[in-house]
Amino acid sequence: MRLEIRYDGELCRGCTFCCWSLKAQVPALSGQGWIDKPAGQACPWLEPGKGCRIHDQLSRDSICRRYACPWVMLQRPDWALHVRLADGTPVWWLAHRPDAFQELLGEPWVQVRGVMPLVPAAIPVERALALARRTRSILATRAALDPFGVAPIGFEVGCQALAPETDTLAASRAWEQELLSFCMPKAA
Ligand code: SF4
Ligand code: SF4
Repeated sequence: MRLEIRYDGELCRGCTFCCWSLKAQVPALSGQGWIDKPAGQACPWLEPGKGCRIHDQLSRDSICRRYACPWVMLQRPDWALHVRLADGTPVWWLAHRPDAFQELLGEPWVQVRGVMPLVPAAIPVERALALARRTRSILATRAALDPFGVAPIGFEVGCQALAPETDTLAASRAWEQELLSFCMPKAA
């Protein structure tokens, strides 16, 4: 099964996070062959603030067309529960669009890239950015694959280090605390 997602541009408008953050094989500017775009570097086909200049011309088999952005997926109501916490619990997860955290990509201490932030909308962006800077980490996703390792069946959310020196245990605890204070029902 191949996941088909329709990117009509409306959802992504103004966001260019994946075209910066992720590693991808993209067509060479010369039109001959392909080049490896490293994680954490803007794609040469990216028009700042607008998006991909060639998206409609890319083959349906290209990684850019097949990429399943977790945030875009979560705009489909039938996908909203396909997010799981580290212990496997499925959760309803309304998230900020990734570009809310785009400024982190320009921070000099961010050395581990290729992240796709998935921070609950209940946590104010400024607060999430402050916590990301303090812990040098962010809540992010990775695709959970089917038993054959082929098709994405959902997304796992966890704390992802943004720098080599990140204390991931302390960072996870800090994010858990933030999740508890903003996302869990408070006792009466
Ligand atoms: S990260 Fe998601 S929302 Fe942002 S440009 Fe990429 S596909 Fe669109
Ligand atoms: S080719 Fe287009 S969609 Fe693919 S990474 Fe580059 S700008 Fe993004």
